[in-house]
Amino acid sequence: MKIRGAVLEQIGLPRPYRDSTPLTVDELDLAPPEDGELLVRIEAAGLCHSDLSVVDGNRVRPVPMLLGHEAAGVVEQSKADLAVGQRVVMTFLPRCGRCPACATDGLTPCEPGSAANAAGTLMCGDIRLTRDNRPIYHHLGVSGFATHAVVDRRSVVPVPADVPPTVASLLGCAVLTGGGAVLNVAKPRPGDTVVVVGLGGVGMAAVLTALAHDDVHVVGVDRLSDKLDRARELGVHDTYTPEQATQHGIKAAAVIESAGHPRALETAIGLTAPGGRTITVGLPPPEARISVSPLGFVAEGRSLIGSYLGSAVPARDIPRFVDLWRAGRLPVEALVSSTITLEQINDGMDQLADGKAVRQIILF
Ligand SMILES: [Zn+2]
Ligand SMILES: [Zn+2]
Repeated sequence: MKIRGAVLEQIGLPRPYRDSTPLTVDELDLAPPEDGELLVRIEAAGLCHSDLSVVDGNRVRPVPMLLGHEAAGVVEQSKADLAVGQRVVMTFLPRCGRCPACATDGLTPCEPGSAANAAGTLMCGDIRLTRDNRPIYHHLGVSGFATHAVVDRRSVVPVPADVPPTVASLLGCAVLTGGGAVLNVAKPRPGDTVVVVGLGGVGMAAVLTALAHDDVHVVGVDRLSDKLDRARELGVHDTYTPEQATQHGIKAAAVIESAGHPRALETAIGLTAPGGRTITVGLPPPEARISVSPLGFVAEGRSLIGSYLGSAVPARDIPRFVDLWRAGRLPVEALVSSTITLEQINDGMDQLADGKAVRQIILF
């Protein structure tokens, strides 16, 4: 079938993207789903920093690639156990359920899932997207910046029809990553302080999830005053720039770093209390290095934990977030800073690179 989608043609083009247009919105051919796959009509897709990291070359992927990994839609054709009409959340790391990594309960990324993502294919190794008979790579098994997608059943989680498309799309990346880091790794107890360093979509989702806990003090840290203002609107208890947080001697049981920058991780380690955990979910460039004294980890019993996709098992955790959202304890809608069209995607990437947006959502 013919679809419309935003294809990244070339990595590393200069800013502003409005002028260099790394993404072109084009008509493409999408082959029908094979066994174990679904055709999904995309309803909403979020612009995430991990999309930008492919555009700017920090995460090298094969091109041309149809980007977009945070998306939700409705099943239109099913070669799996889901009915036509079912709303699904896309998740960006399929889980085979059989490899040693899948036995670690979300702590380690699935091996064949990660391999398919690096190759730009679906889980089975195939590509269903072409343009003029030439393959277009899939982005993280999702390729959600398009009117339709063919995805492996293991790349989606069904959600009830009362979860609106915008909320559903955010559950797949921002909430699963930031919220998962809180629920699965930080696990705050009453009286704890949770600090979040880096208040983009993932960081704000971590803030909201921490705020859903009773008697947990939540602190937001970012170098941009707009982000701190927004965090206060969302109910965060205290906000600081990195310098202010360090000067005030803030110490927390759990500090989540979601900026993807080595200086932010150094700040996060410095704000971690004795016995506490620094949890890093950001994706810095591969050549990034940090400089910290190892002594504090030993002498103060602190730990540094890397968390991919919020150490989540999507099929287990997305229903937990749906329950929190439905109970009014997790206002996922608050993460949306604007809605845009597919044609505005290069402008959207500029907004993201400038740190001006928490989450821009493309509505189809
Ligand atoms: Zn993402
Ligand atoms: Zn696996």
